[in-house]
Amino acid sequence: MQKVAIIGGGTMGAGIAQASALAGYEVILYDLSAELLAQSLDGIWASLDKGVARGKTAAADATAAKAALQTTTSLETAAHVDLIIEAAPEKLALKRDIFAALDATAPEHTILGSNTSSLSINALAGATHRADRFLGIHFFNPAQIMQLVELIRGDFTSDETVTAVRTYVERLGKTAVLCKDTPAFIVNRVARPFYGEAFRLLGENAADPATIDKLMRSIGFRMGPFELIDLIGCDVNLAVTQSVYDAYFQEPKYRPHPIQKRMVESGRLGRKTGRGFYPYDNKEK
Ligand code: NAD
Repeated sequence: MQKVAIIGGGTMGAGIAQASALAGYEVILYDLSAELLAQSLDGIWASLDKGVARGKTAAADATAAKAALQTTTSLETAAHVDLIIEAAPEKLALKRDIFAALDATAPEHTILGSNTSSLSINALAGATHRADRFLGIHFFNPAQIMQLVELIRGDFTSDETVTAVRTYVERLGKTAVLCKDTPAFIVNRVARPFYGEAFRLLGENAADPATIDKLMRSIGFRMGPFELIDLIGCDVNLAVTQSVYDAYFQEPKYRPHPIQKRMVESGRLGRKTGRGFYPYDNKEK
């Protein structure tokens, strides 16, 4: 496996592209417009430069990673690789359309993977004719830093596919864990009450976001729920909550909170829009 394509150069796609290029893969990053791709590439460049400045990345490795990254707005161009990782918005119909188009043009051997946080891998694989070469490859945010990657097997994913993608993940210096195709897999499932209870507390005016975050940090969490949602993106967090709620046939304990909806409708998506539960003057990613 040498060539990797990433579909969607947002928060996650950019991080996955960066990690793949640093590990020595040739990377093609696809997004809807040249402007979005330029923005994404700027972020990757800045992150690579920061790694060099902090002594975490050798300057030569950063230069090689930059050279290994190409961009395209043609899905057909992106399809001609060994591994494709889709990191487009968390919407089933949109992702199925992307996979159907990729499946029609990608070479026989190409493996298709989705970075979905919560959608069914079987439902996505069903849009293609290669369910044996299809799986979930779930990175965590920020993808260029976080060590864990969940590999989600669909009912028809072959052993060869799992082995090939595990090798790719390990070459990125990360750890792969194998999961079943259950709603939100392992980590996001376990995290549901972390967000849900925080929203309920906020909705009851028990405390403000800063106080709740501080309390959670004081008992050992690296981040509180609201600062983490700002990092993830309120839109992504809501989409995942909604998807788990629907997957369990409107199970009340997974119900999204009206505050989540209001944040998204008002455009307060978190770091990526410069405002979420907290303000971000520099619009840092
Ligand atoms: P994002 O909104 O930051 O990025 C999505 C990107 O997809 C954008 O660049 C957008 O232009 C592009 N896009 C939109 N429509 C597209 C299309 N039709 N084809 C291709 N690209 C398209 O979202 P994100 O946070 O990077 O999330 C992407 C995926 O990763 C989602 O499935 C999400 O659930 C998952 N995920 C997110 C996080 C997180 O913390 N944000 C963590 C793990 C997994």
